[in-house]
Amino acid sequence: MTMVKFKYLFKDDHLEIMVQDSSKMNINIFNKDVLEKYHSKSQIARILTENWFEQEMYCPNCLHQELLKNPNNTEVIDFVCDYCDNEFQLKAQSKPFYSKVVDGAFYPMMNSVQHNTTPNFSFLQYSSENWKIQNLFFVPKFFFTPSIIERRKALSSTARRKGWIGCNVILSKIPELGKIKVIEHELPLLEKVVQKNWKQLSFMDKEHAGKRAWLSDILYCVQQLKKKEFSLVEMYEFEEYLAKLHPTNYHIRPKIRQQLQMLRDQGVLKFKERGTYVFK
Ligand SMILES: [Zn+2]
Repeated sequence: MTMVKFKYLFKDDHLEIMVQDSSKMNINIFNKDVLEKYHSKSQIARILTENWFEQEMYCPNCLHQELLKNPNNTEVIDFVCDYCDNEFQLKAQSKPFYSKVVDGAFYPMMNSVQHNTTPNFSFLQYSSENWKIQNLFFVPKFFFTPSIIERRKALSSTARRKGWIGCNVILSKIPELGKIKVIEHELPLLEKVVQKNWKQLSFMDKEHAGKRAWLSDILYCVQQLKKKEFSLVEMYEFEEYLAKLHPTNYHIRPKIRQQLQMLRDQGVLKFKERGTYVFK
C-alpha cells in the first residue's frame, strides 16, 4: 500500500505543501549486516549513509533517479549524475549542521571556488537511535564563493602535517535560497519542489566567482532583514559589511542596486515602488 503524507507549511503568505510518497523515498538507513560486520561507529555511519545516498538519492538538478559512486575519488564520498554530469559530495553526521563545517585544504578549495569546479555539497543528518534521516539539504556549487570559505590556522610544528592549512565552510553565511532542502524532519519534499528550488538561481552557475559572490552576499543581507518588504535604505546598512567582503570595490551602493535588479530579473524580488522591494 502506498502511504502518502502531507504536511502543510505556511511560508510568508502562501501555503507550501510538502508531500511524501513513502513508497518513493525510503529514509531508513538501517542495515543489520553492516551493523554486525563493523564495529567503528564512524565506519558504520559512513557506510550506511553512503549506501542510502546511492540507493535513494536522485539528482536534484535533472531528477535522474540514479547517482553513481565516483570511482576516481577515494578520499571523499563522491557521487555523480551521469545524465547532467553534476557531482555531489556527501557530508553526513548525527548532529545537526550548525554554522561551520570542516572541509579540506584551504588553497585548493579557494582555487576551485574561483574556477567553479567544486562539487555540489549535500549535508545529511541522521539519527543513530532510529536510523532515519532527519534532515538533508544540498548547497549547489554556484553558492560556493570566497565569502563562505574560512581559512583555518596552520597546523602546529608538532603535527604530522605541520604547516598544513585547512578550511571551514561557513554554512550560516549561505543564503537560505542556496540551501536546497530534500528531507526536513524526516519528511522528504516533493522532487519537483526540490528541482524548482535548485533551478531558481542556477543561472549563477555560468557566472564567475566575483559575480556569484556578490549575488549570494546580497541575498544573505536581504534575508538578515527578516522582512518580506524592505527598502534600499535598509540594504545600505550593510555597506560596511559588504565592503569588508569585497575590499577592492569602492562603489558598494551602486553594486547593491545592481544586484537587487538582477534578483528582480530572476524573479526572486519584486520592485514595489521607488526604493521598495518585495521578497517573493
Ligand atoms: Zn542530473
